Amino acid sequence: MQGVIRELRSQLRYQIIGPFLLLTVIVAAAGALAVFYQVAGSLQERFNNQLASVTRTANDTLLSQEQDNLSFLREVAFAQRNDSISAPGVAEALANDDIDGLKKALDPYFLTGINRIGLDRLIAFNTHGQTVSDFERAPDGSGSGYTSHSPLDISQLWFTSRVLSGTSDSRGDKYAGLVLFGSDSLYLATIAPVRNGEDVVGGLIAAIRVDKLLTILRDGSQAAGITLYDTSGRVLASTFLSVEGTVPQMSLDLLNNFDTNPNALSQSLFSVEEIGGREYQFAYIPLKIRGVSVGILAPALSRDYVMATGRDTLWPLGVVVFLLAGLLVGVGVMIANRITAPLGELARTAEAITGGELHRRAHIQSQNEIGTLAHSFNTMTGFLTNLYGQVSSESSQRAAIVESIADGIVVCDTEGRITLVNHATRQFLDLHDDEPPPTWFSDIPIQELTDGALGFGSQRAHDLFTLHERIVRVSANRVVSNVGEIMGSVCVLQDMTAEVAVDRAKTNFIGTISHELRTPLTVIRGNSDLLMRGLAGPLDDDQKVFVESIRQHAGNMTSLISNVIVIAGLDSGSLSTDLEPLSLTRPVDEAAWPLQSMIKAKNLSLKIDLPDDLPEVLADFDQLRMIMHQLLDNARRYTSQGGIVVRAQALPEHVQVEVEDTGRGISPDMQEQVFQRFIRGDGVSEGINSSERGIGLGLAICKQLVERQGGTIWVTSTPGQGSTFCFTLRYAHAKPSPEESKAPMAAAA
Ligand code: ADP
Repeated sequence: MQGVIRELRSQLRYQIIGPFLLLTVIVAAAGALAVFYQVAGSLQERFNNQLASVTRTANDTLLSQEQDNLSFLREVAFAQRNDSISAPGVAEALANDDIDGLKKALDPYFLTGINRIGLDRLIAFNTHGQTVSDFERAPDGSGSGYTSHSPLDISQLWFTSRVLSGTSDSRGDKYAGLVLFGSDSLYLATIAPVRNGEDVVGGLIAAIRVDKLLTILRDGSQAAGITLYDTSGRVLASTFLSVEGTVPQMSLDLLNNFDTNPNALSQSLFSVEEIGGREYQFAYIPLKIRGVSVGILAPALSRDYVMATGRDTLWPLGVVVFLLAGLLVGVGVMIANRITAPLGELARTAEAITGGELHRRAHIQSQNEIGTLAHSFNTMTGFLTNLYGQVSSESSQRAAIVESIADGIVVCDTEGRITLVNHATRQFLDLHDDEPPPTWFSDIPIQELTDGALGFGSQRAHDLFTLHERIVRVSANRVVSNVGEIMGSVCVLQDMTAEVAVDRAKTNFIGTISHELRTPLTVIRGNSDLLMRGLAGPLDDDQKVFVESIRQHAGNMTSLISNVIVIAGLDSGSLSTDLEPLSLTRPVDEAAWPLQSMIKAKNLSLKIDLPDDLPEVLADFDQLRMIMHQLLDNARRYTSQGGIVVRAQALPEHVQVEVEDTGRGISPDMQEQVFQRFIRGDGVSEGINSSERGIGLGLAICKQLVERQGGTIWVTSTPGQGSTFCFTLRYAHAKPSPEESKAPMAAAA
């Protein structure tokens, strides 16, 4: 089900038709309902009208029946003697109490009455209220057979005394009404006095059986049935009784309502009753005879008739509504298809282009907005295809350039995943062109070059690495988009194998030469010492000056060459660093000792101020001594008056050693540079004995050696006032934190 809904939602045409369909159904249903109610309303009205007319007919029939009865009775009452059948006149026979004669006289009238007015019973009664002749037609309605009832006392009936006393009301001396004679059949009776001269000698009653009358009325009015109620709502007679079963009494409600409009035929009341499982609609009207309400007449029509008519109307109505709705939907689908077909073509074209058919175009001829859209789409696609061609040719050109670069190029994303390598990189990694490169940059087996970096003439290169048997310089940079977003990084692997080999050869050469030079220099220094001491005979003053000069220069040359040898050793990796816990005192003393005489010769003071409780440091003894020697020698050389102080202090992280002098200082812009190789400060030659001039290697060696011990070195200086060289050394043993050192005391307390 959800799949169907998704499918319907995925297509524009259904989205157009959907609401349209819904609207159609709503409008059709509303229309059908309206029409149905209209039809039902008019049906009900028709039905009501029919009932009303039935009612009227029934009433009219009754009245005319009464009139007929009257005129018939009048004839009978005035019937004269008939000699042909030897019958006396009716009045005469009654006056004389001639019962046989009376019957003879009445008999032909009775038979005529049957045919003329549908007479059922003809009764003659005497002045005592006794019936003297009582003919009744057989209930089956056949004209011939009739019975003659035995005498009855009807003196107590409502009309008897009035008739016999000759009383007249506003309508005359004849009466009519519903009468029950002895048995339980109800009659519509018309009663007239029979006069002999002025005297009332009896009365005549012409009666018609009410149930028969009702049947006649029913047939005449096309009602389904007619019921007669008395004024208190009890059923007196009904055509339903014989066929359908019990007819309910009139409800009190109905009766009360009825009472309020007793004379209103036009305002006849209706009710729906169920008789024998079927529904009938009853209309109630007062039954008036001689202007007196004698009962309530209720003709009824079957509701089936209404229903059937409703069904008969609804069925074609439903079909029409259905057809109309179908037609509307069909038209809707057609319109939606017409609208969406070009859109479908556009969507298919877009899909095809996405799938790689770049030359596909939408063929839509319509001139409307969709046509314009398709045209713009085609133009845009053409433009983009051209642009794509240009971009791809540019990109393949760039790819070719990158491929052709002799250095290795590795491009990574922000997470270090390799996205591109060029041919040179593949060669470094010993990969064929069709082999995939490693996934991550960290998978490339490059290792930091530990022994013997670039040679003597350059700074030590920290960016040299080994990759298989090659030495490469790795320079990396971030790739930043033009909106400043970091997209990854690019690494250039430069093959330095040959350069490193050449530099190593140079370093080795310099190292060898320096070693070779140091031997004769030692001899020269030794011999000049011997000469100064007069071991080769006493020297005069001039000779002493010359020999002293030789000795000093040889000494300087030796320290200079020693520095060169150290640098060569550092660069070639032959100088190893053996870290061990040691006290700072001995290396400092050993470094200071050879310089004592020279410091004194310059009239400078030297103060070594090391705290007694200074913890041991982790350092290489020889290299630490070399550092101290270099710093003290520099202080000596660049200080002309004042003194040199060596200090050390235990800081939380490390031990800091300081060599302070009162020399000429270093300008701020040089303070960083003096640690680089061959950098010499401004005016180095001023005031410095040219024999003591260095070549700018001392501090570079210090820096490298300090870093090998795991420390850092820096200088603070005020030109003209002095400099302080500081470096740090690691503790040999983990230094207890202040809290930890307090802990034992706390425990003791
Ligand atoms: P050099 O052989 O020239 O002394 P160094 O590397 O030892 O080489 O020192 C580099 C430069 O730093 C020196 O040329 C000098 O200008 C400056 N320098 C070093 N130590 C001191 C110091 N204690 N006082 C003033 N300047 C110094």
